[in-house]
Amino acid sequence: MVFVLVESEEGKIKKYSQEALTYGADLAAATGSSCAAIAIGEDTDTSDLGNYGADKVYHVTGSGLEAFSPGGYATAVADVVSNNGGNYVIVSGSYTGKSVAPKAAVKLNAALATGVVAMTDGNSIRKTCFSNKAFSKVSMSGDVKVITVVPNSYEIKSYDKAGSVESVSTDVGSSVKTKSISIDKVKGKIPLTEAELVVSAGRGLKGPENWGMIEELADVLGAATACSKPVSDMDWRPHSEHVGQTGITIKPNLYIAVGISGAIQHLAGVSSSKVICVINTDPEAPFFKAADYGIVGDAFEIVPKLLARAKELKAS
Ligand SMILES: Cc1cc2nc3c(=O)[nH]c(=O)nc-3n(C[C@H](O)[C@H](O)[C@H](O)COP(=O)(O)OP(=O)(O)OC[C@H]3O[C@@H](n4cnc5c(N)ncnc54)[C@H](O)[C@@H]3O)c2cc1C
Repeated sequence: MVFVLVESEEGKIKKYSQEALTYGADLAAATGSSCAAIAIGEDTDTSDLGNYGADKVYHVTGSGLEAFSPGGYATAVADVVSNNGGNYVIVSGSYTGKSVAPKAAVKLNAALATGVVAMTDGNSIRKTCFSNKAFSKVSMSGDVKVITVVPNSYEIKSYDKAGSVESVSTDVGSSVKTKSISIDKVKGKIPLTEAELVVSAGRGLKGPENWGMIEELADVLGAATACSKPVSDMDWRPHSEHVGQTGITIKPNLYIAVGISGAIQHLAGVSSSKVICVINTDPEAPFFKAADYGIVGDAFEIVPKLLARAKELKAS
């Protein structure tokens, strides 16, 4: 059986977990098996999971699962998988998934493959390596295999499955070694890891006072905002926006890069974007080599024009 850990926020299933479920449902079909979702926590809405590919849902609640902890979640996942004869555990490569997957793999004595972008067959996968600069095909052995799927790498499909729910009550309190005391969330913004469109800017914008046009363009397009490393190092923008090798890896449908040179460390986090549009005064900027569309020009002239046109299109 293929198990998929699904994550939720305020009860709603995360987009990247829907992708992981599609991956799990396809893997189950390819291996002649069935796909079960593991939903953790009282407030998770399990009603739609059949539509995302789950034949069955294990809804796990109990002591130690009131809030997220890597140890508590990994124990809950490992218990459900070993009690029900699981062969595969699919987890999104989100922050949560990345911290749960290795722990669950150890508990299950399983093979672990991270950064997976495509399924080849039940025993081998395609994954990123060298900071997303290359792909490798990896074979997996053993009775149980744990796989983390890179967010935005797998298309969500809709299914018409039963998604029948079995409630599982457990106590994983002794596995909880770290606990979040409080969480400060950025409100009213599109989370960068889930954004389909991203407007990003770099040192070419000269200073934090010039980000108004970037934020406005993002707002009109319904995009998230991102930035290069030096920009967040200088506190022009928050660190949560820093993309690249040492920041967040994203794969939106459209990545607009304004005044960013396109250093290899930046590209490591954004080069998998479906379409890349670069605006830079320097025609030799390395980013143009990775771009689908390039505009050689001054951001302070180009962005206001783009913004005006986007507003016109939106109004019509
Ligand atoms: C170990 C390591 C890890 C790193 N990790 C990351 C990472 O995760 N993410 C990351 O981003 N960087 C990372 N870096 C830094 C990286 O090497 C680059 O220094 C950085 O990406 C450059 O940022 P930038 O493009 O904003 O600035 P710059 O290199 O200064 O480029 C600014 C660009 O703006 C253009 N420009 C200037 N004026 C205008 C204008 N008016 N209109 C339009 N264009 C204009 C310039 O032509 C130039 O191309 C890392 C470096 C190291 C050593």
